[in-house]
Amino acid sequence: MTIKQRLWCVQVPKQSGEPVRSLLVGMGAFERDAAVQRDDTYLYFPVKHEIKIADQFPDVRLLQRDFECVEKQTFGDILGFTPSYDMIGDIAIIDADDPDAEGIADAILLMHRHIKTVLGAMSPVQGEFRVRDLRVVAGEPKTETVHREYGCRYEIDLARVYFTQRLATERKRIADQVGGGDVVVDMFAGAGPFSILAAKSARAVVAIDKNPVAIEYLEKNARLNRIGNMRIICSDAADVAHDLAHIADHVIMNLPHSADEFLDEALTILKPGGIIHYYDIREEDNLFDGAEAAIKDAASARDMTVQVLDRRIVRSYSPHQYNVVLDVEVCLG
Ligand code: SAM
Repeated sequence: MTIKQRLWCVQVPKQSGEPVRSLLVGMGAFERDAAVQRDDTYLYFPVKHEIKIADQFPDVRLLQRDFECVEKQTFGDILGFTPSYDMIGDIAIIDADDPDAEGIADAILLMHRHIKTVLGAMSPVQGEFRVRDLRVVAGEPKTETVHREYGCRYEIDLARVYFTQRLATERKRIADQVGGGDVVVDMFAGAGPFSILAAKSARAVVAIDKNPVAIEYLEKNARLNRIGNMRIICSDAADVAHDLAHIADHVIMNLPHSADEFLDEALTILKPGGIIHYYDIREEDNLFDGAEAAIKDAASARDMTVQVLDRRIVRSYSPHQYNVVLDVEVCLG
């Protein structure tokens, strides 16, 4: 549907159209929901708001005209409510059990032109490999996509490998702590979003995962992002800890729910003075103490001491549970 709207626009002689159009796009001022107009002499580029025309374009004028505009819809207009959904690459994920799942999926395809597929989650993330059951609700029948995050690209099959876009800021926070001489061991690497971003700053990264499909994608993603300083190991992290003894300045333990079972191995891998980034799911009334105690106990069993450098909520997980992280420095007693 289109509606007529009076908008600010830039009048440009036809022969100067392209440089002015590029400039408006670059400024983020070009109004894409209205059609460009033309007459024998001029083009009229619709803009989002009144702008100042640079002196370098003396034959360009700002004025107002009526335009045919695409009527912008909201989820409220289409569904009567705003649904919750995740977007990973060109795939959106909704709750498959929602009685409105088909309607929500159609609305998402309408509202986000870059989304090609809407998947319905039929289970929570589960099992050792932390994947969920998915079904195609609308769009192209596929579960594979390429997700872009902080300048990196990740190819992932969402039905076979764990991935969430909700940890993007957290991955950047960790990568920002990694120095040029540092070695990072990512014990539960998945398709590699922590490892690959960290590898951009680190001297070397060792990325481990037990899921062979995650390793397949991790190898692809290392190539896709031209990472040359990463060793990739398909194994139970516990089984390779001794081969990696005391090499790491940073150990990333993104296996909430069971990271505590691997603390001894993490301490084997860590250099004295290194930092463990420990993720957990905690109840709101005991956000950090239990996790901190588990790390202290594991360290003191080896005559090591810990200093908590940071502890924070990463995201909410369920109504009364939070995904938390502790950055903990571990030193020789
Ligand atoms: N760090 C990745 C990310 O942020 O996308 C993946 C995190 S996911 C929560 C945990 C990963 O640990 C899964 O890919 C799973 O296959 C892997 N995993 C589970 N148990 C493991 C083990 N004992 N050793 C190594 N990897 C394991």
